[in-house]
Amino acid sequence: MEILKERILKEGKVRNGDVLKVGTFLNHQIDIKLLEEIGKEFKKRFSDCDITKILTIESSGIAIACMAAQSFGVPVVFAKKNTTKNLDGGVYSSQIYSFTHGKTYNVVVSKEILLADDKVLIIDDFLANGKAVQGLANIVEKSGASLVGAGIVIEKSFEPGGKEVRGKGIRVESLAKISAMSPDGKIEFED
Ligand code: 5GP
Repeated sequence: MEILKERILKEGKVRNGDVLKVGTFLNHQIDIKLLEEIGKEFKKRFSDCDITKILTIESSGIAIACMAAQSFGVPVVFAKKNTTKNLDGGVYSSQIYSFTHGKTYNVVVSKEILLADDKVLIIDDFLANGKAVQGLANIVEKSGASLVGAGIVIEKSFEPGGKEVRGKGIRVESLAKISAMSPDGKIEFED
């Protein structure tokens, strides 16, 4: 997706060698117009699929998932971190190691919200080691719903997540694939 790649090149900042900061349009300040285009692109890529719910993880995936959901005309469900007390009817849970925070979260979705006849598309901002996508896929599996695939805004394809997730038979569509990043700020795309 060219307009996304241009924004990454213009505003992305490489930190600690493997973390890309995109706080000016995706993770802190949010460019709604760009997100609208991202939502439409996900809809185009998964147009062959019958999707009933979009699943993401709080917090950075929520805005992206909401814009995508508008294109699909379906609700967004976000997995909550560390919340077990105020969800009625029990939860599906999974342990997810956070790439950016360096700790493991217990992530939950209410059993009342994810249903066995749902067809679920996972949406997230980044794909790095694949823990977030695999944790969410695990929740979908526990619910008995079908997983259609995962839509990712930025995949860092020099990290192992993409290969691992696809190796498990999960369809992954990434709008920008970064093949290399260097500490001096150089960013290269796969295609
Ligand atoms: P994974 O679980 O695939 O290792 O990492 C994905 C999650 O970590 C995403 O939900 C995202 O929030 C965060 N993440 C991974 N890499 C980056 C990065 O380079 N920049 C930012 N801003 N977040 C990242």
